[in-house]
Amino acid sequence: MGGEWRDSVSNRWFDVVNPATEEIIAQVPNAVADDMLSAINIADSVQQEWANTLASDRARILQKAASMMHTQVEELARIMTIEEGKPLAESRGEIAYAASFLEWFAEEGKRVYGDVIPSSSATKRIMVLKRPVGITAAITPWNFPAAMITRKLGPALAAGCTMIIKPSELTPLSALEIARIFEKAGLPKGVLSVVVGTDAPALGAALMDDFRVRKISFTGSTEVGKILMRQAADTMKRVSFELGGHAPLIVFNDADLDVAVQNAVLCKMRGMGETCVSANRIYVQREIAKPFVDKLVNRISQMKMGNGIEEGITVGPLIEPAAVEKVERHVKDAQKHGASVLLGGSPSTNSKGYFYPPTVITDVNEEMLVMQEETFGPVAAIAEFESEEEVIARANNSRYGLAAYFFTRDVGRVLRLAEQLEYGIIGANDGLPSTAQAPFGGVKESGLGREGSKYGIEEYLDIKYVSIGL
Ligand code: ADP
Repeated sequence: MGGEWRDSVSNRWFDVVNPATEEIIAQVPNAVADDMLSAINIADSVQQEWANTLASDRARILQKAASMMHTQVEELARIMTIEEGKPLAESRGEIAYAASFLEWFAEEGKRVYGDVIPSSSATKRIMVLKRPVGITAAITPWNFPAAMITRKLGPALAAGCTMIIKPSELTPLSALEIARIFEKAGLPKGVLSVVVGTDAPALGAALMDDFRVRKISFTGSTEVGKILMRQAADTMKRVSFELGGHAPLIVFNDADLDVAVQNAVLCKMRGMGETCVSANRIYVQREIAKPFVDKLVNRISQMKMGNGIEEGITVGPLIEPAAVEKVERHVKDAQKHGASVLLGGSPSTNSKGYFYPPTVITDVNEEMLVMQEETFGPVAAIAEFESEEEVIARANNSRYGLAAYFFTRDVGRVLRLAEQLEYGIIGANDGLPSTAQAPFGGVKESGLGREGSKYGIEEYLDIKYVSIGL
């Protein structure tokens, strides 16, 4: 915290558990609200100085941290896999993805341009400056233990903001490693604090109640996002929220089936389906439903479930027992309402670890939980549709609006769907659209604000208008 490694004033520690083996892999200090207050005090003492550094100097630190992430990818990926469960190859991919946000924002920080606006008075000049918002806070989830941090930390530091991070209590180790990297990369003491603890409501409230924290960026559930938005009102903090999703993935008759299947598998099964942009509802046009499902089942049945630390494993465990229970509840509910299970369909009988096998269910309809809530698990739920108009209406029938995907070779249809689907991110013949230079974020109850891209840094900048009398 604040450039020093500290125990909590609580003198308590908590366990970090490997979801593949249920072993305790580490114990970390269990921070409480007083620790959070210390982190805010430290940030407050250095905020002004940090805001006054040169963008090019801040960029050098970000670049250095990114290059250290690349050099240490193996070690960082192993830590991620043992605390989060995702297969090692995916963890390596996430470290590179996480570093890409630092690289991108190192450059964007140098391009925080203001404006000079023509005045309507001969004796006045109008200037617009952009200034860092001040102390910022990030509350991050466990499913991308590194990338959800750097996607916030990169623009915050590049813009000249200090940041306090409260990572998920399920994956504190990756967050602490990022702090270590920034320490080695030469980030001045106090600019970054990582505060880990199990009492998320208390730690969150300590951040939200403090007037000095001027911005909160949160990635997690819509439920917690709403709590934070209410809490932000009292001090009028700026907010960015990346919340839940319920992504539709639509396959039309004219799609390239192999491309659609390959992308559907990636989109559905990456991170065991535990991502907010995972395809939750797969709609297939009736004529191609059978060949699509056959190919999908064939591909998914080749996936290998196990401890992600072993090479060749493509499906790891879910994060915790409650996640397995939720997936089980969704699949059972679908079966009760008439769905057929073609693959998987019940929790693994492995003696250790929170495993649920890749599952494919068909004959899915809107009555089922899987069509209404985020499943956050490796369940491909497939429904059939007849017409474009019908499927657009069904896809839009959700309070969520994060990502939507579709597969078609008809260029007119690509444009119609891109315009009509009420989602912040559209993958047209693309199941993995996320990348540092593109704006990531949702509409409706999926959130507010955008991360990554040239827009991402604006979330950490205030506009200041200066009127100059001559
Ligand atoms: P998920 O379901 O993906 O775990 P959550 O929204 O529960 O999503 O958690 C995302 C982050 O929000 C985690 O860091 C968690 O500790 C934190 N969190 C959970 N509840 C609260 C709360 N009441 N106030 C602040 N942060 C919270």
